[in-house]
Amino acid sequence: MLTTLRRIVQAVNNAPNLMQAVEVMVSLVKEAFATDVCSVYLFDHTESRYFLMATEGLNKEAVGQVSLGVSEGLVGLVGLREEPVNIEIASAHPKYRYLAETGEEKFGSFLGAPIIHHGRVLGVVVVQQGGKRCFDQSEEAFLVTICAQLAGVIAHAESTGALAGIPYLYGKDRPVEFRGVSGATGVAIGPAVVIYPLADLDAVPDRKVDDIEPEVEVFEHALAAVQAAINKLRDSYEHTLQREEKDLFDVYLRILDKNSIGGEIIDKIKEGYWAQSALRIVVEQYVKNFEAMDDPYLRERAADVRDLGLRILAQLQQNKPPQLEYPERSILIGEEITTSVLMEIPKHKLAGIVSVKGSINSHMAIVARALGVPTVVGAVDLPFSQLENCTLIVDGYQGLVSVNPNPESLKHYEALRAEEEQLVEDMEGYRDLPAETPDGHKVALWVNTGLMADVLRSLDRGAEGVGLYRTEIPFMIRDRFPSEQEQIDIYQEQLQAFAPHPVTMRTLDIGGDKALPYFPIAEENPFLGWRGIRISLDHPEIFLVQVRSMLKAGAGLTNLRILLPMITNVLEVEEACYFIHRAYLEVKEEGFDIEMPPVGAMIEIPGAVYQVREIAQRVDFISVGSNDLTQYLLAVDRNNPRVADLYQSCHPAVLQALQIIVDEAHKEGKPVSICGEMAGDARTAVLLMAMGYDSLSMSAANLLRVKWALRQINMESAKTWLNDIKQFDNAEVISSYMDMAFERVGLGGLTRAGK
Ligand code: PEP
Ligand code: MG
Repeated sequence: MLTTLRRIVQAVNNAPNLMQAVEVMVSLVKEAFATDVCSVYLFDHTESRYFLMATEGLNKEAVGQVSLGVSEGLVGLVGLREEPVNIEIASAHPKYRYLAETGEEKFGSFLGAPIIHHGRVLGVVVVQQGGKRCFDQSEEAFLVTICAQLAGVIAHAESTGALAGIPYLYGKDRPVEFRGVSGATGVAIGPAVVIYPLADLDAVPDRKVDDIEPEVEVFEHALAAVQAAINKLRDSYEHTLQREEKDLFDVYLRILDKNSIGGEIIDKIKEGYWAQSALRIVVEQYVKNFEAMDDPYLRERAADVRDLGLRILAQLQQNKPPQLEYPERSILIGEEITTSVLMEIPKHKLAGIVSVKGSINSHMAIVARALGVPTVVGAVDLPFSQLENCTLIVDGYQGLVSVNPNPESLKHYEALRAEEEQLVEDMEGYRDLPAETPDGHKVALWVNTGLMADVLRSLDRGAEGVGLYRTEIPFMIRDRFPSEQEQIDIYQEQLQAFAPHPVTMRTLDIGGDKALPYFPIAEENPFLGWRGIRISLDHPEIFLVQVRSMLKAGAGLTNLRILLPMITNVLEVEEACYFIHRAYLEVKEEGFDIEMPPVGAMIEIPGAVYQVREIAQRVDFISVGSNDLTQYLLAVDRNNPRVADLYQSCHPAVLQALQIIVDEAHKEGKPVSICGEMAGDARTAVLLMAMGYDSLSMSAANLLRVKWALRQINMESAKTWLNDIKQFDNAEVISSYMDMAFERVGLGGLTRAGK
C-alpha cells in the first residue's frame, strides 16, 4: 500500500500541470483500489458548485459538463461534512443524486473524501464500485492521504492563476487575490506594469578572445556608463530622499567599484573571456554566494548584484533600457523589483509596487516606505507575467494584491484611497490641535521613525514626539557599523528636528527578522534567539558606542530618552542601565553638556508582562512593543502570510496582557506608552486610551486619523466599550463590536480606512 501511495504521490507531484496531475491520479487510484470508477470534482468558489474535473470509469464526455450544487448529492455531502463518506449502497442514500450524463447508475458503492487546504474545501475525490462493496478503513485512510496531497497541488494552481486555464471552471478575468507581506503601507489602485530584466544574463554564451585589451576597454566603457547612470539617479533624488536613503546608491557604486566586482570582471577578461561572459561568470558566482547565505539581509544583496549585472550587460549589448510609457497610477509588478528600477519611474506616475521576491528588509522596501509608495513583497504565487495591464489593488496594510477586483471591492478600495487622500486634507486643521477627547482627556500622540524621511512626514502631521526611533534602520542600510561620529550625526538630526519634544531612541534591536549585512546571525529559531538587548549586552563595545553617540547627540538638548528592546528579565535591565550610566559618566568627563536621559524598557515578551512592576521599578518609563508581544503571546509569526489571520491584536489574551502592563506600571508611578501597530489603528487606539495608556506611538501615516477619532470620542464611551468587550471571548467579536461602535458615533469610514 505504501509503495503504491508513494508512486501516486510522486506522479501527482511530477505532473507538469494540474489537469495532468488529476488525470494521472484518477487512473492510478482506480488501479490501486481495483475498482470501477475514480473521479475528481473540483469546487468552483465563484459559482459554489462542484464540477467533474477528471474521471476513470464514468463517461468522459461528462467532464466539465456535470456539476453539483454545494449541498447536492453525495459529493455535496462529503464537502459539507468535511470528512470521508463511505456507503455500501449509494442509490439507497437519501442524498443520492442520479446524474444521467455520467452513466453512473451501474455503480452501487461509494467512497468520497474531501480535498481540504487550510480549512477550505477545494473538491472531492470519489471511488465507486459496481455492485456491493464495503470499502474498508485502510482504503478510507489511503484516499484521505491522496486528497491531502492533491490539496497542495490544487491550491497552488488556484493561487497562481493556473485554474483560470480550465475554461469551464473560471472565467479569464475573474477576481483573484494574492497574499504577500506588507513592504510599505497604503492603498493603490491602477494598471499593472510588468517589469522584466533588460537583458538575459543566463543566455550569454561562453566565448574566448585572443585580443584582451579591446574587451577590457569595452567593459570599462559599459561600467562607466552604468556608474554615471546611478550617479544621475542619485542626483535626481537629491531633494526627495534624505542622506541615509541616498546611501543605498553608494552601496551600488561600491559593488561596481574596481576593487570589487568591477575589478574581478576585468581579471576574468584577462583570463581570455569576452566581456559578456566574464560578467556573467562573476555575477553568477556573487549571486550564488549571497543566495546561499542564511542571513535574510545578505540574501537580498543577491538582487542588487543581479540588477547591476543586467545593467552592464544591457550596455555591453548596446541594449538601452526601454523607455516605457508609464500609465497614470502605474503599479510595478515583477519577479524582483529592484531599487534602481523603482527610482527610474517618475514619482507622479508610480502608485504601488508588488514584488514576488523580496522581504520587509529589502532595500527596495526601505526606499518604498521612505517614498510612501504602497508595496507588497513576497507575493510568491503572483503570476506576474500574465498580468500586464490588469487592474490591481495593492493593500499595503495587509500585504494583499487583488487582480481584476470585482466592482464591489474596487468601490471599497477606491473609497478607501479617496478617503485616505481626503482625510489627510481634512485633517490639516487638526495638525496643531492636541489629542484631547471632548470630555477633556489628553493622550500624547507620538510617531515611530527610522529614516529621516519619516521625521519630515511626522513633523508635517504635527507629531508631539517620537515614541520609537528604530536605530537599527540606519544600521541596516550601511555595509559596516556606523562609527561613533556617524551615529552622533544621525541621532542629532532626529533630536534637533523634534526638540523640545521627546525622542525615544531604542538601542539596536537586531536579530529575528532584522539582520545587518555585516553581522550575520545564523540560527534555527531566530525569533527566540539572539536578538535585541541580548546582543547589546553580549557586545558592550557596540552598545557603549551607541549609547555614547546618543548622549553626545543630545548634548545641549533635553529631549533624549533611551529605550531597551526585548527585555526578558530584571538583570538585563540592570546591566543595560549600568552601561548607560558608565557611558554617561564617560561622556560627561569628556566635557559634554548632558543630563542623564530617562531610560525605558520595552515589554514585548510574555514573561515580562508578569514582571512589569519589578521592571518598572528599575526604569523611568515603560513602552509596549505590541507587535512582538502579540507574536509571542499567540505563537504566530508576524511575517508569515500563512498564519496572518491568526495574528490578532484584538485577541482577548492580548488585550488582557495590555491591561495588566499599564495597571502594574502605573502602580509604580511610571508612564506607559505603546509603539506597536495597534496604537495606529483608531479602534484599538481608543481601547488603549481607555486602558490608561499615557501615549500612543504610531507611523506618521496614522497620526491624524487617530487624533481625529480621539477628539470625537469621550473617554467615558471608550471606557464603556472596553468594559463591554471584556465579556467577549474571541477577537472576531471584539473587532466587530468596535466596528459597530465606530459606526454608531459616525466614524465608520475612519475604521475602514487604512485597513
Ligand atoms: C513591537 O514589537 O511592537 C515594536 C514596536 O518593535 P518592532 O516592530 O520594531 O519589533
Ligand atoms: Mg519589537
